[in-house]
Amino acid sequence: MASASVLSAWPPTLTDAQIHALTVQATTYALSNGLLYLPPAERQPPIPESAIHAPLALFPSPFPRSIFEHAKRIQRTYNVLYSRIAQHEQFLDRVMGTENGVGKVDDFIGQLWTGWKQLRDEGLVQPLHLGLFRSDYLLHAPSGESPSLKQVEFNTISSSFGALSERTAAMHRYLNASTQYYNASSHLKTDSFPENDTVAGLVEGLATAHKAYNNEKAYILFVVQPGERNIFDQRPLEYKLLEKYSIHVIRQTFDELALSATLDPETRVLRISCATDLHTDGSVEISTVYFRAGYAPVEYQTPAHYHTRFLLERSRAIKCPSIALQLAGGKKVQEVLTRSGVLEGFLSDETKWGKAAFRKEEVDELRESFMGMWGLDVGQDMITPDHDALESGEENFGVRKARELAPSLVLKPQREGGGNNVYKESIPAFLDTLPPKDRQAWIAMELIVPPSGASNYLIRAGGDNQRAVKAEVVSELGIFGWALFGDESTDMIEKEVGWLVRTKGKESNEGGVATGFSVLDSVLLV
Ligand code: ADP
Ligand code: MG
Ligand code: MG
Repeated sequence: MASASVLSAWPPTLTDAQIHALTVQATTYALSNGLLYLPPAERQPPIPESAIHAPLALFPSPFPRSIFEHAKRIQRTYNVLYSRIAQHEQFLDRVMGTENGVGKVDDFIGQLWTGWKQLRDEGLVQPLHLGLFRSDYLLHAPSGESPSLKQVEFNTISSSFGALSERTAAMHRYLNASTQYYNASSHLKTDSFPENDTVAGLVEGLATAHKAYNNEKAYILFVVQPGERNIFDQRPLEYKLLEKYSIHVIRQTFDELALSATLDPETRVLRISCATDLHTDGSVEISTVYFRAGYAPVEYQTPAHYHTRFLLERSRAIKCPSIALQLAGGKKVQEVLTRSGVLEGFLSDETKWGKAAFRKEEVDELRESFMGMWGLDVGQDMITPDHDALESGEENFGVRKARELAPSLVLKPQREGGGNNVYKESIPAFLDTLPPKDRQAWIAMELIVPPSGASNYLIRAGGDNQRAVKAEVVSELGIFGWALFGDESTDMIEKEVGWLVRTKGKESNEGGVATGFSVLDSVLLV
Protein backbone atom coordinates (compact mmCIF):
# COMPACT_ATOMS: atom_id res chain seq x y z
CA MET A 1 0.00 0.00 0.00
CA ALA A 2 1.41 3.34 -1.08
CA SER A 3 0.52 5.18 2.10
CA ALA A 4 2.36 2.67 4.30
CA SER A 5 5.58 3.25 2.39
CA VAL A 6 5.10 7.02 2.52
CA LEU A 7 4.64 6.80 6.29
CA SER A 8 7.79 4.82 6.96
CA ALA A 9 9.82 7.32 4.93
CA TRP A 10 8.30 10.31 6.72
CA PRO A 11 9.43 13.02 7.20
CA PRO A 12 11.74 13.48 4.23
CA THR A 13 15.38 14.17 5.02
CA LEU A 14 16.46 17.77 5.41
CA THR A 15 19.62 19.36 6.82
CA ASP A 16 19.72 20.76 10.34
CA ALA A 17 19.95 24.25 8.86
CA GLN A 18 16.80 23.65 6.81
CA ILE A 19 14.91 22.28 9.83
CA HIS A 20 16.01 25.31 11.81
CA ALA A 21 14.87 27.72 9.09
CA LEU A 22 11.49 25.96 8.78
CA THR A 23 11.06 25.99 12.55
CA VAL A 24 11.59 29.76 12.66
CA GLN A 25 9.06 30.20 9.85
CA ALA A 26 6.56 27.88 11.54
CA THR A 27 6.73 29.51 14.96
CA THR A 28 6.68 33.01 13.45
CA TYR A 29 3.63 32.10 11.38
CA ALA A 30 1.98 30.74 14.51
CA LEU A 31 2.66 33.91 16.46
CA SER A 32 1.48 36.09 13.55
CA ASN A 33 -1.76 34.19 13.06
CA GLY A 34 -3.09 33.45 16.50
CA LEU A 35 -1.94 29.84 16.66
CA LEU A 36 -1.40 30.48 20.34
CA TYR A 37 -1.94 29.63 23.99
CA LEU A 38 -2.11 31.88 27.00
CA PRO A 39 0.43 31.11 29.73
CA PRO A 40 -0.73 28.86 32.60
CA ALA A 41 -3.46 30.39 34.79
CA GLU A 42 -1.11 31.28 37.65
CA ARG A 43 1.04 33.33 35.26
CA GLN A 44 -1.84 35.14 33.54
CA PRO A 45 -2.19 38.80 34.47
CA PRO A 46 -5.80 40.03 34.67
CA ILE A 47 -5.35 41.66 31.28
CA PRO A 48 -3.63 39.29 28.83
CA GLU A 49 -0.30 40.65 27.62
CA SER A 50 1.61 37.74 26.13
CA ALA A 51 1.08 34.32 24.64
CA ILE A 52 3.14 31.38 23.42
CA HIS A 53 2.73 29.50 20.17
CA ALA A 54 0.73 26.29 20.36
CA PRO A 55 2.62 22.98 20.17
CA LEU A 56 3.08 22.18 16.46
CA ALA A 57 4.22 19.50 14.05
CA LEU A 58 6.70 20.86 11.51
CA PHE A 59 5.50 18.64 8.65
CA PRO A 60 1.91 17.73 7.80
CA SER A 61 1.23 14.01 8.34
CA PRO A 62 0.55 11.71 5.37
CA PHE A 63 -2.98 10.30 5.46
CA PRO A 64 -4.74 8.11 2.85
CA ARG A 65 -6.98 10.34 0.74
CA SER A 66 -9.78 7.80 0.40
CA ILE A 67 -9.96 7.24 4.17
CA PHE A 68 -10.01 10.99 4.81
CA GLU A 69 -12.93 11.44 2.40
CA HIS A 70 -14.66 8.46 3.98
CA ALA A 71 -14.33 9.95 7.49
CA LYS A 72 -15.84 13.22 6.27
CA ARG A 73 -18.70 11.40 4.58
CA ILE A 74 -19.72 9.24 7.55
CA GLN A 75 -19.77 12.33 9.79
CA ARG A 76 -23.19 13.08 8.32
CA THR A 77 -24.49 9.75 9.62
CA TYR A 78 -22.85 10.32 13.01
CA ASN A 79 -24.52 13.75 13.24
CA VAL A 80 -27.92 12.12 12.77
CA LEU A 81 -27.10 9.20 15.05
CA TYR A 82 -26.19 11.39 18.03
CA SER A 83 -29.15 13.69 17.51
CA ARG A 84 -31.43 10.66 17.68
CA ILE A 85 -29.69 9.32 20.78
CA ALA A 86 -30.11 12.68 22.52
CA GLN A 87 -33.84 12.60 21.77
CA HIS A 88 -34.31 9.02 22.99
CA GLU A 89 -34.98 9.70 26.64
CA GLN A 90 -35.73 6.10 27.58
CA PHE A 91 -32.45 4.95 26.10
CA LEU A 92 -30.46 7.59 27.97
CA ASP A 93 -32.36 6.83 31.19
CA ARG A 94 -31.51 3.16 30.84
CA VAL A 95 -27.84 3.63 29.99
CA MET A 96 -26.92 6.77 31.95
CA GLY A 97 -29.66 7.07 34.60
CA THR A 98 -29.42 6.49 38.35
CA GLU A 99 -31.77 3.53 38.52
CA ASN A 100 -29.69 0.98 36.68
CA GLY A 101 -27.42 3.02 34.44
CA VAL A 102 -24.01 4.57 34.90
CA GLY A 103 -25.48 7.40 36.99
CA LYS A 104 -26.09 4.88 39.78
CA VAL A 105 -22.37 4.57 40.51
CA ASP A 106 -20.84 7.67 38.89
CA ASP A 107 -21.77 10.70 40.97
CA PHE A 108 -21.08 13.26 38.22
CA ILE A 109 -23.19 11.48 35.62
CA GLY A 110 -25.80 10.81 38.30
CA GLN A 111 -26.04 14.51 39.16
CA LEU A 112 -26.39 15.58 35.54
CA TRP A 113 -28.98 12.92 34.81
CA THR A 114 -30.99 13.65 37.97
CA GLY A 115 -31.08 17.37 37.23
CA TRP A 116 -32.15 16.70 33.68
CA LYS A 117 -34.87 14.29 34.80
CA GLN A 118 -36.32 16.87 37.18
CA LEU A 119 -36.37 19.49 34.46
CA ARG A 120 -38.06 17.06 32.11
CA ASP A 121 -40.73 16.28 34.68
CA GLU A 122 -41.31 19.98 35.13
CA GLY A 123 -41.41 20.47 31.35
CA LEU A 124 -38.65 21.89 29.15
CA VAL A 125 -39.58 24.88 27.02
CA GLN A 126 -36.89 24.67 24.35
CA PRO A 127 -37.24 21.64 22.09
CA LEU A 128 -34.14 22.44 20.01
CA HIS A 129 -30.67 21.13 20.79
CA LEU A 130 -27.47 22.24 19.09
CA GLY A 131 -24.50 19.90 18.85
CA LEU A 132 -21.03 20.95 17.73
CA PHE A 133 -19.44 17.54 17.40
CA ARG A 134 -16.02 16.08 16.82
CA SER A 135 -15.57 12.43 15.93
CA ASP A 136 -11.99 11.22 16.58
CA TYR A 137 -10.22 8.43 14.74
CA LEU A 138 -6.94 6.59 14.45
CA LEU A 139 -5.80 4.48 11.53
CA HIS A 140 -5.85 0.81 12.46
CA ALA A 141 -3.23 -1.39 10.78
CA PRO A 142 -2.57 -4.49 12.90
CA SER A 143 0.34 -6.66 11.71
CA GLY A 144 0.98 -4.47 8.69
CA GLU A 145 -2.51 -4.78 7.17
CA SER A 146 -3.62 -1.90 5.00
CA PRO A 147 -5.04 0.75 7.31
CA SER A 148 -8.71 1.24 8.12
CA LEU A 149 -10.49 4.01 10.01
CA LYS A 150 -11.39 3.31 13.67
CA GLN A 151 -13.22 5.65 16.00
CA VAL A 152 -11.56 6.64 19.28
CA GLU A 153 -14.55 8.55 20.62
CA PHE A 154 -17.34 10.95 19.70
CA ASN A 155 -17.35 14.32 21.49
CA THR A 156 -20.62 16.16 22.07
CA ILE A 157 -19.43 18.85 24.50
CA SER A 158 -16.71 21.48 24.17
CA SER A 159 -15.27 19.93 21.00
CA SER A 160 -12.17 22.06 20.73
CA PHE A 161 -9.41 22.94 18.25
CA GLY A 162 -11.63 24.03 15.37
CA ALA A 163 -9.83 27.36 15.06
CA LEU A 164 -6.33 26.17 15.92
CA SER A 165 -6.56 23.24 13.50
CA GLU A 166 -7.66 25.55 10.70
CA ARG A 167 -4.63 27.71 11.41
CA THR A 168 -2.28 24.75 11.60
CA ALA A 169 -3.45 23.55 8.19
CA ALA A 170 -2.87 27.08 6.87
CA MET A 171 0.61 27.11 8.41
CA HIS A 172 1.63 23.89 6.66
CA ARG A 173 0.19 25.20 3.40
CA TYR A 174 2.17 28.40 3.89
CA LEU A 175 5.44 26.54 4.64
CA ASN A 176 4.95 24.55 1.46
CA ALA A 177 4.11 27.61 -0.62
CA SER A 178 7.04 29.51 0.81
CA THR A 179 9.79 26.87 0.79
CA GLN A 180 8.26 23.81 -0.88
CA TYR A 181 9.97 22.17 2.09
CA TYR A 182 13.15 22.44 -0.01
CA ASN A 183 11.70 19.97 -2.54
CA ALA A 184 12.16 17.26 0.02
CA SER A 185 9.25 15.09 -1.10
CA SER A 186 7.12 14.66 -4.20
CA HIS A 187 4.11 14.21 -1.88
CA LEU A 188 4.22 17.85 -0.83
CA LYS A 189 1.92 19.09 -3.62
CA THR A 190 -0.55 21.94 -3.32
CA ASP A 191 -3.60 19.79 -3.96
CA SER A 192 -2.57 17.36 -1.23
CA PHE A 193 -3.29 20.00 1.43
CA PRO A 194 -7.08 19.87 1.85
CA GLU A 195 -9.13 22.94 2.72
CA ASN A 196 -10.02 23.42 6.37
CA ASP A 197 -12.75 26.00 7.08
CA THR A 198 -13.78 24.76 10.47
CA VAL A 199 -14.34 28.18 12.05
CA ALA A 200 -16.89 29.25 9.44
CA GLY A 201 -18.55 25.84 9.72
CA LEU A 202 -18.89 25.82 13.51
CA VAL A 203 -20.03 29.43 13.51
CA GLU A 204 -22.70 28.62 10.95
CA GLY A 205 -24.01 26.07 13.45
CA LEU A 206 -24.14 28.63 16.25
CA ALA A 207 -25.69 31.25 13.96
CA THR A 208 -28.33 28.79 12.75
CA ALA A 209 -29.37 28.12 16.35
CA HIS A 210 -29.40 31.85 17.07
CA LYS A 211 -31.67 32.42 14.07
CA ALA A 212 -34.00 29.62 15.15
CA TYR A 213 -34.34 31.31 18.55
CA ASN A 214 -35.66 34.27 16.62
CA ASN A 215 -34.55 37.38 18.47
CA GLU A 216 -31.99 39.32 16.48
CA LYS A 217 -30.90 41.34 19.46
CA ALA A 218 -30.13 38.37 21.67
CA TYR A 219 -26.54 37.37 22.46
CA ILE A 220 -24.82 34.00 22.39
CA LEU A 221 -23.39 32.98 25.77
CA PHE A 222 -20.02 31.18 25.82
CA VAL A 223 -19.67 29.34 29.14
CA VAL A 224 -15.94 29.18 29.78
CA GLN A 225 -13.51 27.90 32.39
CA PRO A 226 -11.69 30.31 34.71
CA GLY A 227 -8.05 30.80 33.68
CA GLU A 228 -8.71 29.21 30.27
CA ARG A 229 -5.46 28.97 28.24
CA ASN A 230 -7.08 27.94 24.99
CA ILE A 231 -8.83 31.25 24.25
CA PHE A 232 -7.24 31.57 20.82
CA ASP A 233 -9.28 28.55 19.85
CA GLN A 234 -12.47 30.15 21.23
CA ARG A 235 -12.23 33.83 20.36
CA PRO A 236 -12.10 33.35 16.57
CA LEU A 237 -15.61 31.84 16.75
CA GLU A 238 -16.73 34.95 18.57
CA TYR A 239 -15.05 37.30 16.05
CA LYS A 240 -16.62 35.45 13.12
CA LEU A 241 -20.09 35.52 14.71
CA LEU A 242 -19.87 39.27 14.96
CA GLU A 243 -18.22 39.91 11.62
CA LYS A 244 -20.36 37.62 9.48
CA TYR A 245 -23.69 37.52 11.36
CA SER A 246 -23.57 40.61 13.61
CA ILE A 247 -24.17 38.34 16.59
CA HIS A 248 -22.67 39.42 19.91
CA VAL A 249 -21.11 37.01 22.36
CA ILE A 250 -20.78 37.24 26.11
CA ARG A 251 -18.25 34.99 27.88
CA GLN A 252 -18.85 33.94 31.48
CA THR A 253 -17.71 31.28 33.93
CA PHE A 254 -20.09 29.28 36.13
CA ASP A 255 -19.10 31.48 39.08
CA GLU A 256 -19.92 34.64 37.16
CA LEU A 257 -23.20 33.17 35.93
CA ALA A 258 -24.22 32.31 39.48
CA LEU A 259 -24.49 36.06 40.02
CA SER A 260 -25.49 37.32 36.58
CA ALA A 261 -27.98 34.82 35.14
CA THR A 262 -31.73 35.11 35.67
CA LEU A 263 -34.79 33.46 34.19
CA ASP A 264 -38.08 35.14 33.57
CA PRO A 265 -40.46 32.95 35.60
CA GLU A 266 -43.15 33.05 32.90
CA THR A 267 -41.26 32.85 29.64
CA ARG A 268 -38.00 31.35 30.95
CA VAL A 269 -36.08 33.81 28.86
CA LEU A 270 -32.45 33.74 30.02
CA ARG A 271 -30.91 37.12 30.74
CA ILE A 272 -27.36 37.90 31.79
CA SER A 273 -26.66 41.15 33.54
CA CYS A 274 -23.65 42.89 32.08
CA ALA A 275 -23.13 46.37 33.42
CA THR A 276 -20.27 47.06 31.00
CA ASP A 277 -22.30 46.80 27.84
CA LEU A 278 -23.33 50.23 26.59
CA HIS A 279 -25.76 48.86 24.06
CA THR A 280 -28.07 47.31 26.60
CA ASP A 281 -30.07 48.35 29.61
CA GLY A 282 -27.79 46.39 31.88
CA SER A 283 -28.72 42.91 30.74
CA VAL A 284 -28.89 40.86 27.56
CA GLU A 285 -31.18 38.09 26.43
CA ILE A 286 -29.42 34.84 25.47
CA SER A 287 -30.39 32.89 22.36
CA THR A 288 -27.84 30.08 22.57
CA VAL A 289 -25.63 28.74 25.34
CA TYR A 290 -22.34 27.33 24.02
CA PHE A 291 -20.44 25.27 26.61
CA ARG A 292 -16.66 25.33 26.49
CA ALA A 293 -16.84 24.23 30.10
CA GLY A 294 -18.97 21.99 32.28
CA TYR A 295 -17.70 18.59 31.12
CA ALA A 296 -15.52 17.71 34.13
CA PRO A 297 -16.54 17.02 37.77
CA VAL A 298 -13.89 19.45 39.11
CA GLU A 299 -15.92 22.25 37.53
CA TYR A 300 -18.81 21.44 39.86
CA GLN A 301 -17.12 22.01 43.22
CA THR A 302 -20.34 23.00 45.00
CA PRO A 303 -24.08 22.42 44.55
CA ALA A 304 -24.22 26.02 43.29
CA HIS A 305 -22.34 24.98 40.15
CA TYR A 306 -24.92 22.30 39.36
CA HIS A 307 -27.61 24.84 40.18
CA THR A 308 -26.20 27.23 37.57
CA ARG A 309 -25.94 24.48 34.98
CA PHE A 310 -29.59 23.51 35.57
CA LEU A 311 -30.72 27.13 35.47
CA LEU A 312 -29.23 27.42 31.99
CA GLU A 313 -30.79 24.10 31.01
CA ARG A 314 -34.18 25.22 32.26
CA SER A 315 -34.11 28.35 30.12
CA ARG A 316 -35.62 29.00 26.74
CA ALA A 317 -32.14 29.46 25.21
CA ILE A 318 -30.88 26.70 22.91
CA LYS A 319 -28.14 24.71 24.61
CA CYS A 320 -24.99 23.50 22.84
CA PRO A 321 -25.05 20.88 24.15
CA SER A 322 -28.18 20.10 26.10
CA ILE A 323 -27.61 17.77 29.06
CA ALA A 324 -29.21 15.04 26.96
CA LEU A 325 -26.64 15.56 24.24
CA GLN A 326 -23.79 15.66 26.76
CA LEU A 327 -24.97 12.34 28.20
CA ALA A 328 -25.28 10.90 24.68
CA GLY A 329 -21.55 11.55 24.25
CA GLY A 330 -20.67 9.23 27.15
CA LYS A 331 -18.20 6.42 26.56
CA LYS A 332 -20.85 4.03 27.88
CA VAL A 333 -23.18 5.01 25.04
CA GLN A 334 -20.35 4.36 22.58
CA GLU A 335 -20.01 0.86 24.02
CA VAL A 336 -23.76 0.16 23.94
CA LEU A 337 -23.84 1.17 20.27
CA THR A 338 -21.52 -1.75 19.44
CA ARG A 339 -24.13 -4.24 20.70
CA SER A 340 -26.12 -6.16 18.13
CA GLY A 341 -29.09 -4.22 16.75
CA VAL A 342 -28.63 -0.97 18.69
CA LEU A 343 -27.18 1.03 15.82
CA GLU A 344 -29.82 -0.39 13.51
CA GLY A 345 -32.54 0.75 15.93
CA PHE A 346 -31.25 4.30 15.76
CA LEU A 347 -30.61 4.44 12.04
CA SER A 348 -32.22 1.88 9.78
CA ASP A 349 -35.46 0.82 11.47
CA GLU A 350 -37.99 1.85 8.80
CA THR A 351 -41.05 1.56 10.99
CA LYS A 352 -39.51 4.21 13.22
CA TRP A 353 -37.73 6.47 10.76
CA GLY A 354 -39.69 6.06 7.53
CA LYS A 355 -38.04 7.98 4.75
CA ALA A 356 -35.30 9.10 7.14
CA ALA A 357 -34.11 5.51 7.63
CA PHE A 358 -30.54 4.83 6.52
CA ARG A 359 -29.60 2.05 4.13
CA LYS A 360 -27.92 -1.06 5.49
CA GLU A 361 -24.63 -0.13 3.77
CA GLU A 362 -24.57 3.22 5.55
CA VAL A 363 -25.13 1.58 8.92
CA ASP A 364 -22.47 -1.04 8.20
CA GLU A 365 -20.01 1.74 7.34
CA LEU A 366 -20.44 3.20 10.81
CA ARG A 367 -20.17 -0.18 12.47
CA GLU A 368 -16.92 -0.83 10.62
CA SER A 369 -15.44 2.22 12.35
CA PHE A 370 -16.07 0.67 15.81
CA MET A 371 -13.51 -1.22 17.89
CA GLY A 372 -14.67 -3.99 20.21
CA MET A 373 -15.98 -2.71 23.57
CA TRP A 374 -17.73 -4.08 26.65
CA GLY A 375 -18.81 -2.91 30.07
CA LEU A 376 -16.60 -3.99 32.96
CA ASP A 377 -19.68 -5.08 34.91
CA VAL A 378 -20.97 -7.69 32.46
CA GLY A 379 -21.39 -11.44 32.73
CA GLN A 380 -20.89 -14.22 30.15
CA ASP A 381 -23.13 -12.69 27.48
CA MET A 382 -20.97 -9.52 27.56
CA ILE A 383 -24.15 -7.39 27.83
CA THR A 384 -26.06 -8.10 31.05
CA PRO A 385 -24.54 -6.86 34.33
CA ASP A 386 -23.50 -9.71 36.64
CA HIS A 387 -25.24 -8.41 39.77
CA ASP A 388 -24.27 -11.39 41.93
CA ALA A 389 -20.58 -10.84 41.30
CA LEU A 390 -20.87 -7.08 41.79
CA GLU A 391 -22.52 -7.68 45.18
CA SER A 392 -20.19 -10.42 46.37
CA GLY A 393 -17.10 -8.63 45.01
CA GLU A 394 -16.07 -11.66 42.95
CA GLU A 395 -14.67 -11.11 39.51
CA ASN A 396 -17.31 -11.17 36.82
CA PHE A 397 -16.66 -12.25 33.25
CA GLY A 398 -16.09 -8.70 31.94
CA VAL A 399 -13.32 -8.06 34.47
CA ARG A 400 -11.68 -11.44 33.92
CA LYS A 401 -11.64 -10.80 30.21
CA ALA A 402 -10.09 -7.37 30.75
CA ARG A 403 -7.30 -8.95 32.81
CA GLU A 404 -6.69 -11.61 30.21
CA LEU A 405 -6.56 -9.20 27.29
CA ALA A 406 -5.00 -6.27 29.19
CA PRO A 407 -2.02 -5.74 26.81
CA SER A 408 -4.39 -4.94 23.95
CA LEU A 409 -6.95 -2.85 25.89
CA VAL A 410 -7.73 0.57 27.27
CA LEU A 411 -10.23 1.08 30.11
CA LYS A 412 -12.29 4.27 30.08
CA PRO A 413 -14.55 5.95 32.65
CA GLN A 414 -17.30 8.45 31.76
CA ARG A 415 -14.97 11.42 31.53
CA GLU A 416 -13.76 13.95 28.97
CA GLY A 417 -10.70 16.09 28.51
CA GLY A 418 -7.89 13.55 28.62
CA GLY A 419 -5.86 11.86 31.34
CA ASN A 420 -8.62 9.58 32.64
CA ASN A 421 -7.97 6.24 30.92
CA VAL A 422 -6.05 3.17 32.07
CA TYR A 423 -3.83 1.43 29.53
CA LYS A 424 -2.39 -2.04 28.97
CA GLU A 425 0.02 -3.13 31.76
CA SER A 426 -1.59 -0.75 34.25
CA ILE A 427 -4.93 -2.53 33.89
CA PRO A 428 -4.49 -5.54 36.25
CA ALA A 429 -3.30 -3.46 39.20
CA PHE A 430 -6.05 -0.95 38.53
CA LEU A 431 -8.66 -3.73 38.55
CA ASP A 432 -7.31 -4.93 41.91
CA THR A 433 -8.24 -1.62 43.46
CA LEU A 434 -11.48 -0.81 41.58
CA PRO A 435 -14.47 -1.21 43.97
CA PRO A 436 -16.76 -3.86 42.39
CA LYS A 437 -19.73 -1.52 42.20
CA ASP A 438 -17.70 1.01 40.18
CA ARG A 439 -17.18 -1.53 37.40
CA GLN A 440 -20.43 -0.31 35.90
CA ALA A 441 -18.93 3.12 35.24
CA TRP A 442 -16.08 1.76 33.10
CA ILE A 443 -15.81 0.31 29.63
CA ALA A 444 -13.06 -1.81 28.11
CA MET A 445 -12.05 -0.97 24.55
CA GLU A 446 -9.70 -2.79 22.19
CA LEU A 447 -6.64 -0.75 21.38
CA ILE A 448 -6.38 0.62 17.89
CA VAL A 449 -3.01 -0.30 16.35
CA PRO A 450 -1.80 2.63 14.25
CA PRO A 451 0.60 2.05 11.35
CA SER A 452 4.17 2.37 12.56
CA GLY A 453 7.15 4.11 11.05
CA ALA A 454 6.02 7.72 10.76
CA SER A 455 8.09 10.42 12.44
CA ASN A 456 7.77 14.18 12.64
CA TYR A 457 9.45 17.19 14.20
CA LEU A 458 7.48 18.33 17.24
CA ILE A 459 7.84 21.99 18.19
CA ARG A 460 6.97 23.19 21.69
CA ALA A 461 7.49 26.61 23.18
CA GLY A 462 9.62 26.85 26.28
CA GLY A 463 13.22 27.99 26.59
CA ASP A 464 15.02 25.20 24.78
CA ASN A 465 17.24 26.26 21.81
CA GLN A 466 16.75 22.97 20.02
CA ARG A 467 12.98 23.30 19.73
CA ALA A 468 12.15 20.89 16.88
CA VAL A 469 12.42 17.42 18.38
CA LYS A 470 12.24 14.43 16.05
CA ALA A 471 10.04 11.62 17.33
CA GLU A 472 8.16 8.58 16.09
CA VAL A 473 4.54 9.62 16.04
CA VAL A 474 0.89 8.59 15.87
CA SER A 475 -1.71 10.95 14.40
CA GLU A 476 -5.36 11.23 15.47
CA LEU A 477 -7.86 12.65 12.99
CA GLY A 478 -10.94 14.54 14.21
CA ILE A 479 -13.90 15.43 11.98
CA PHE A 480 -16.14 18.32 13.02
CA GLY A 481 -19.86 18.44 12.41
CA TRP A 482 -22.91 20.17 13.79
CA ALA A 483 -26.61 19.42 14.12
CA LEU A 484 -29.64 21.46 15.14
CA PHE A 485 -32.59 19.25 15.97
CA GLY A 486 -35.47 18.44 18.30
CA ASP A 487 -38.38 20.45 16.98
CA GLU A 488 -40.89 17.98 15.61
CA SER A 489 -42.33 20.41 13.09
CA THR A 490 -39.01 21.12 11.33
CA ASP A 491 -36.38 18.82 9.90
CA MET A 492 -33.01 18.62 11.58
CA ILE A 493 -30.16 20.53 9.97
CA GLU A 494 -26.69 19.03 10.05
CA LYS A 495 -23.31 19.44 8.35
CA GLU A 496 -19.76 18.15 8.27
CA VAL A 497 -17.56 21.22 8.64
CA GLY A 498 -13.86 20.47 8.91
CA TRP A 499 -11.10 18.50 10.54
CA LEU A 500 -8.24 18.37 13.03
CA VAL A 501 -5.06 16.35 13.37
CA ARG A 502 -3.31 15.90 16.69
CA THR A 503 0.02 14.09 16.64
CA LYS A 504 1.63 12.48 19.67
CA GLY A 505 4.88 10.68 20.39
CA LYS A 506 4.40 6.97 19.76
CA GLU A 507 5.37 6.04 23.33
CA SER A 508 2.52 8.11 24.81
CA ASN A 509 -0.79 6.29 25.33
CA GLU A 510 -2.85 9.47 25.54
CA GLY A 511 -3.29 12.31 23.12
CA GLY A 512 -4.45 15.75 24.18
CA VAL A 513 -2.86 19.03 23.16
CA ALA A 514 -4.12 20.90 26.21
CA THR A 515 -2.74 18.21 28.50
CA GLY A 516 0.69 18.51 26.85
CA PHE A 517 0.84 15.06 25.26
CA SER A 518 0.41 16.02 21.63
CA VAL A 519 0.90 18.74 19.03
CA LEU A 520 -1.36 20.29 16.41
CA ASP A 521 -0.87 18.94 12.93
CA SER A 522 -2.62 18.66 9.57
CA VAL A 523 -3.07 16.03 6.87
CA LEU A 524 -1.13 15.60 3.68
CA LEU A 525 -3.32 13.44 1.46
CA VAL A 526 -1.53 10.52 -0.17
P1 ADP B 1 -11.02 11.87 26.12
O1 ADP B 1 -12.49 12.05 26.03
O2 ADP B 1 -10.49 12.09 27.50
O3 ADP B 1 -10.27 12.63 25.06
P2 ADP B 1 -10.37 9.48 24.58
O4 ADP B 1 -11.29 8.33 24.45
O5 ADP B 1 -10.24 10.34 23.38
O6 ADP B 1 -10.75 10.31 25.87
O7 ADP B 1 -8.95 8.92 24.95
C1 ADP B 1 -7.81 9.76 25.08
C2 ADP B 1 -6.70 9.32 24.16
O8 ADP B 1 -6.35 7.96 24.41
C3 ADP B 1 -7.02 9.36 22.67
O9 ADP B 1 -6.80 10.65 22.14
C4 ADP B 1 -6.07 8.33 22.09
O10 ADP B 1 -4.78 8.87 21.91
C5 ADP B 1 -5.99 7.30 23.22
N1 ADP B 1 -6.96 6.21 22.96
C6 ADP B 1 -8.24 6.17 23.38
N2 ADP B 1 -8.86 5.04 22.97
C7 ADP B 1 -7.94 4.35 22.25
C8 ADP B 1 -7.96 3.09 21.56
N3 ADP B 1 -9.05 2.33 21.53
N4 ADP B 1 -6.83 2.71 20.94
C9 ADP B 1 -5.71 3.47 20.97
N5 ADP B 1 -5.64 4.65 21.61
C10 ADP B 1 -6.73 5.10 22.25
MG1 MG C 1 -10.39 12.38 23.05
MG1 MG D 1 -13.59 13.23 24.64
